[in-house]
Amino acid sequence: MARLEGANALVTGGSRGIGAEVARRLAADGATVVVNYAKNAEAAGGVVDEILARGGSATAIGADVSDPGAAARLVEETLAGLGGLDILVNNAGVTRDGLLVRLSDEDVDAVIDTDLKSVFYVTRPAAKVMMKARAGSIVNVSSVVGLVGNAGQTNYAAAKAGIIGFTRSLARELAPRGVRCNAVAPGFIETDMTAGLNDDVREAVQSVISVGRFGRPSEVASAVAFLASQEASYVTGQVLAVDGGMTFA
Ligand code: NAP
Repeated sequence: MARLEGANALVTGGSRGIGAEVARRLAADGATVVVNYAKNAEAAGGVVDEILARGGSATAIGADVSDPGAAARLVEETLAGLGGLDILVNNAGVTRDGLLVRLSDEDVDAVIDTDLKSVFYVTRPAAKVMMKARAGSIVNVSSVVGLVGNAGQTNYAAAKAGIIGFTRSLARELAPRGVRCNAVAPGFIETDMTAGLNDDVREAVQSVISVGRFGRPSEVASAVAFLASQEASYVTGQVLAVDGGMTFA
């Protein structure tokens, strides 16, 4: 039996990059997956079609998770469609890079709202359902930038470090109710988010990655799938760096 057979999963920001690969991987492991997206319905539909073509089970739901009402509706619609929720992957995220002195209020709000506050908005109703079922696994997508910082990303680093504090606190709250909460902290992964980096930046980054290359979305997805599964039944409150040996903590 596949390790996630019978599980219901929601992946925020599942239309592209890491989230799309997480959705594909959870479905390949047997889960029924809701692929959330903000704007890109076509890409989300493509991920769903790929999963269905491989014999898996998935649907797409559009919702801007930085909006509390939309996030609540996303969880409601997910529950109505799937009948329960065993796995939540909080993956949606954006960047608005710039040195602190040049960041606008909008640059700060967009990143904090999408990358950090959304995690509260989606997890709150999802956790209620999991607590009632006395089972469930929440995996939050942080970043190595939340661990070690990065010039030009104070807004993003604050959001991603916030996710780590959230993860550790929620793990303590939910452990007595049989629900686990962990995070992954990817390093530099080949997605649309890093596609705009110029050659100088790429070379500088690669020089501090022990394995000497950027990661693939599938390499993050396999870590998420492990934490989501019962194979990680004794793992909670942890932050797993998936960064090719960029950081060691
Ligand atoms: P990406 O390729 O830019 O994809 C971002 C995804 O998030 C898309 O599916 C997008 O949906 C969705 N999204 C954005 N804002 C949203 C909102 N308000 N509501 C719902 N969905 C929203 O990014 P990625 O590189 O895969 O990153 C995924 C996660 O990994 C992010 O949290 C990011 O911070 C984190 N991360 C990435 C890296 C990296 O090197 N790539 C490293 C560390 C951590 P649409 O398609 O509809 O726009």
